[in-house]
Amino acid sequence: MALIVQKYGGSSVATPERLKRVAGRVAENRRQGNDLVVVVSAMGDTTDELLDLARQITNRPSAREMDMLLSTGEQVSIALLAMALHELGQKAVSLTGSQVGILTDDVHRKARIAQISSDRIRAELAAGNIVIVAGFQGMDQNNDITTLGRGGSDTTAVALAGALEADSCEIYTDVDGVYTADPRVVPKARKLEFISYDEIMEMASLGAQVMQLRSVEHGKVHGVEIHVRSSFNRNPGTIIREVKEMNNHRPVIGVAQDLQTAKLSILDVPDQPGIAYQVFSALAKEAVNVDMIIQTAPRNGKADISFTVHEDDRERAQAVVGEVAKKLDASGVICNEGVAKISVVGAGMTSQPGVAATMFGCLAKHGINIDMIGCSEIKISCIIRADQVKEAAQALHTDFGLDA
Ligand code: ADP
Ligand code: ASP
Ligand code: MG
Repeated sequence: MALIVQKYGGSSVATPERLKRVAGRVAENRRQGNDLVVVVSAMGDTTDELLDLARQITNRPSAREMDMLLSTGEQVSIALLAMALHELGQKAVSLTGSQVGILTDDVHRKARIAQISSDRIRAELAAGNIVIVAGFQGMDQNNDITTLGRGGSDTTAVALAGALEADSCEIYTDVDGVYTADPRVVPKARKLEFISYDEIMEMASLGAQVMQLRSVEHGKVHGVEIHVRSSFNRNPGTIIREVKEMNNHRPVIGVAQDLQTAKLSILDVPDQPGIAYQVFSALAKEAVNVDMIIQTAPRNGKADISFTVHEDDRERAQAVVGEVAKKLDASGVICNEGVAKISVVGAGMTSQPGVAATMFGCLAKHGINIDMIGCSEIKISCIIRADQVKEAAQALHTDFGLDA
């Protein structure tokens, strides 16, 4: 008998009918003799709707209360799924994150899992139950509810699979695997049979929301092989695992775009030691994550510093930089919202020259101006105009030979 952890995302449980279909699929697995732990997300757009409700009350909600609010979405789904399984004659019990014993740090809205106790789940499985777990939530040392960041149900599932040493971890979503690009943006995207932890982590951090970044980190650390597949069909999906050999020897295996990017520039700061330190230490103190940075060549002893942040951090970054700009006697701060990041990813680019040239040539051919460039060993990113990002994604997908 195998122990299987399955996770069903928001679109897979968006309506009572879909929930019933998920219950049918879970029951079928159970009848095959497997032990099942099923993680579910909130139904459809529930989390966004809860965020919107809070916004109608305040612009500055307490993070603790936000977690109290947001975690309710998952609680609805687990109870309904348990009921749907009862209707099918299955024994099932629903558990919240705290009932399971998912202990996190106390960073509300972005909490990290510190420890999972598997006792309750094991006891429920031993009693013959299918165990339904609320995704995206845990509990800190003060017994306060925390949430794990958007898309956090993926992390609940992978972390549980690791803690329970499950035989498999299946992530059911509305696409049948990890593609070479977001299939909604690039219709010619191809499904990948395998992808390495490092490559999907890079894709996730660059905007591909199919798996939450932290869930894959957990998978890598605990050696959990993750099967991403669709809850709407039976196609084989994509296996995320350690890949020793390069993916088809292609330098680029995927294209990702991120529209949740804002660019800030501080104009005419003195060109002398310690200036960048003052800017970025002030941002660090306010926990603003900075992504790409460039500084222009100095003119008359002055230079401009530009950097990008996640859209969620834009307002905080603007406030911090406004203060620093005054101290440095800068001539102004510009915030540019209509930008996006387009990236190509592949472990193979380390050993193959010409990837940057192909990328820049492709963008030039399409009249797309590059505002900023950032590279790591396995990715190249460019900041471009947001309204050109779709064209850029499709063109890069073609030029790197990824089209289906
Ligand atoms: P769930 O609610 O099941 O967690 P998400 O909406 O979080 O689902 O993630 C699935 C979506 O991720 C897909 O609908 C797809 O548009 C998007 N996506 C972005 N990049 C990729 C990619 N490279 N491969 C597959 N899907 C992707
Ligand atoms: N419901 C949460 C969200 O929308 C968590 C998840 O779906 O994974 O972000
Ligand atoms: Mg998701």
